[in-house]
Amino acid sequence: MKEVKIGVIGCGAIGREHVRRLNNLVAGASVVAVADYFPEAASKLAAQYPGVKAYKTGEELIAAPEVEAVVITSSDESHAGYVLEALGAGKFVFCEKPLAQTAADCEKIMEAEQKAGRRLLQVGFMRRYDRGYAAMKGIIASGELGAPLMIHACHRNVSQAPGFATDYAVTRVAIHELDISRWLLDDEYDTAQVLAVRQSSATKGDWLNPQVMMLTTKSGQRIDVEVQTDGAYAYDIQCQVVCENGTVNLPDPAAVVTRANAARSFPILTDWSQRFIEAYDIEFQEWVKALQAGAPTGPSAWDGYVTCVTADAIIKSRKTGVPEKVELVEKPAMYR
Ligand code: NAP
Repeated sequence: MKEVKIGVIGCGAIGREHVRRLNNLVAGASVVAVADYFPEAASKLAAQYPGVKAYKTGEELIAAPEVEAVVITSSDESHAGYVLEALGAGKFVFCEKPLAQTAADCEKIMEAEQKAGRRLLQVGFMRRYDRGYAAMKGIIASGELGAPLMIHACHRNVSQAPGFATDYAVTRVAIHELDISRWLLDDEYDTAQVLAVRQSSATKGDWLNPQVMMLTTKSGQRIDVEVQTDGAYAYDIQCQVVCENGTVNLPDPAAVVTRANAARSFPILTDWSQRFIEAYDIEFQEWVKALQAGAPTGPSAWDGYVTCVTADAIIKSRKTGVPEKVELVEKPAMYR
C-alpha cells in the first residue's frame, strides 16, 4: 500500500511526540515536512529525522506538493485557519483538539469539507481509541446492562502551565469528557452547566478549581464531570456509566502492586502524555489505514463542532447560573 506523506505544523510537546510516533511506530506513513511559528523549533526537529524538510510557515507546508496529509499540533488559536487552508488545498488534515475556538469557525470548516465533497478531516479525540473506553462502549452497545442512565466522570490534574484560566478547564481539559461521554452514550446533549463548589487551596493560580460540569442528553441521561485542574494527587481519569442492570467502569492503567508496611499500593501516573500513549498510537495507525483506503473514519468536524458548542454553553452557564441549552445546527448528511 502507498505510504502517506505527512506534514506536521507545530513542533511543541505533542507535535514532536506525533512526529516520533508517525516515523517510528505507524506503518504506512512518513513525516516529510514540519513547520512552527518558531522556525528554530522546526529545523531542530527536522534535523532529527532523515528526509524531513522544515518550512518557515504552516501555509507553505500545506502548499508543498510532497505533503499529502497535514497534522496540526500548533496552539489552539491557530487550528481553524490551518484546517481551512488544508481543506481548501484538498488535503487530508488531522487537527488536534480543539477543532476551533468558536462554533462559527467549526461551521465554516464543515462547509469547506462539504464543498470538497468528501471527508478529509479528523479531530484528535484520542480517547475513542483507548482500549478501556472502547470496551465500555462495546458493553453499553451490546445492551447486556440495559439502557445507560448516567455517567460519573472525573479528570484530575497535578498542575497546569503558566497562563491557565478558568475557561480552559472546559475548552482544554473537559473537552475530552465532552466528546467521550456522547460517544459512549451515542446521544447528543440537551443542556450544559457548571456548578460552583468549594475551591481548593492547592490551586497555584487565580482560576476556579475544582469545577463540576453537568450535562443532560436528548434522551434524559445525566453526566457529571468533576474537573480538578491543579493540585490533585495524580493525573487520574475516571469514568463510570450507570445502566439499568449494572455499571461499567473505565479500567485503571496496568500498574505493579506493592505489598509492604501493612498496605497494598500501586502508583498512579502524574503525566497526561503517558496515560493515553497507546491510544495515540492506535489513533494514528487507524488514521493512516483509513487514508490509504480513501478517507478518514475517526472523529469528524461534527464532533469538533458539538464539543465547541457544548463548551460555550458551559461557559455561558457560569455567568447565568442556570443550565444552558446546547443548540446545534442540523447535522449535515456527510456526518450522519
Ligand atoms: P506546545 O508545546 O505549546 O506546542 C505548540 C507549538 O506550536 C509551539 O512550538 C508553538 O510555537 C507552535 N505554534 C504556535 N502558534 C503557531 C502557529 N500559528 N503556526 C505554527 N506553529 C505555531 O503545545 P502542545 O502541548 O504541544 O499542544 C499543541 C496542541 O495540541 C494544542 O492545541 C493542544 O490542545 C493539543 N493537545 C492535545 C492533546 C490531546 O490529548 N489530544 C494533548 C496535548 C496537546 P511557540 O512556542 O513559538 O509559540
